[in-house]
Amino acid sequence: MAARQGRDAGGDGMRLRGKVAVVTGAASGNGRAIAARFAAEGADLVMGDLDVDGLDATSRLVVDAGRAALGRRCDVTLAEDLTSLVSAGAERFGHVDVMVANAGITNSAPFLEMDEATWRSVLDVNLTGVFLSDQVAARQMVAQGGGGVIVNVASIMARLGSETASNYAAAKAGVESLTRSAAMALAPHGIRVNAIGPGFIDTPMTQPIRDEPVIGDQLISRTPMGRMGSTEEVAAVAAFLASDDASFMTGQCVFPDGGFLLNWARPSQEVMEAFLRLQAQRQA
Ligand code: NAP
Repeated sequence: MAARQGRDAGGDGMRLRGKVAVVTGAASGNGRAIAARFAAEGADLVMGDLDVDGLDATSRLVVDAGRAALGRRCDVTLAEDLTSLVSAGAERFGHVDVMVANAGITNSAPFLEMDEATWRSVLDVNLTGVFLSDQVAARQMVAQGGGGVIVNVASIMARLGSETASNYAAAKAGVESLTRSAAMALAPHGIRVNAIGPGFIDTPMTQPIRDEPVIGDQLISRTPMGRMGSTEEVAAVAAFLASDDASFMTGQCVFPDGGFLLNWARPSQEVMEAFLRLQAQRQA
């Protein structure tokens, strides 16, 4: 079985040397940072997105890092677009070793008012798009002899409910579940499949809520670390999962979220004071 997993053989931090990585949604935000980090760790990049100008800008970052970049328009809801992206990568570089299924959108509405088209738009990109990305990449990896890594981008919303983004939360829960199924199906082919579930990250997607004072402040105050995450912090987790440092991990979802998912247990100031009163009474 081909073994082109990332090895930091030289001990120089280039864990993805010799790898070819496909990144969807690479024109912006997390996808751009993942492409740049992978290039910095030695990978050549094959990148798809709807935004071709944004892809050109990401390609320049990859080339500046000394790696080769192939970018083309690719709608992840279309199997033929993904097939042509992955085939172009295999043709140019000889093999494809990593798929990062990152492209995603939001399209929110209150639950009672969400129409079917709004629901389907998010499921189509965020869940079906990940399924198609994984399947197309895995077929290529199997055809070239097996071995490879898939990293799916989920969200903390995979573990939470949302009154205004039920479509997004359901899609991301689906991505976490799909990651487990794909991991089981692909382990015999030497392909590891994991997911990342970022918290509140500073990207163009979150810019409107970050800049809305009430919502932005509330999301940050619900993050135990008290800040948004950066795209570089998401990319660092993606690089770890794509590398041999994660060689015994499959079917997992890792959450770079500043502790957001711990928050159910975080007491309000009022509750904290009540606990302290109880403790003082016991000690008296
Ligand atoms: P972003 O800055 O909006 O980037 C998403 C990219 O995906 C955009 O370039 C977008 O192109 C592209 N895209 C949208 N639909 C596509 C399609 N059908 N086919 C191919 N590309 C498509 O958002 P981001 O925050 O980096 O999000 C990236 C991933 O991280 C998403 O899966 C998102 O759900 C996830 N995530 C983000 C956060 C966060 O706080 N930012 C938290 C958890 C998870 P257009 O701009 O042309 O639409």
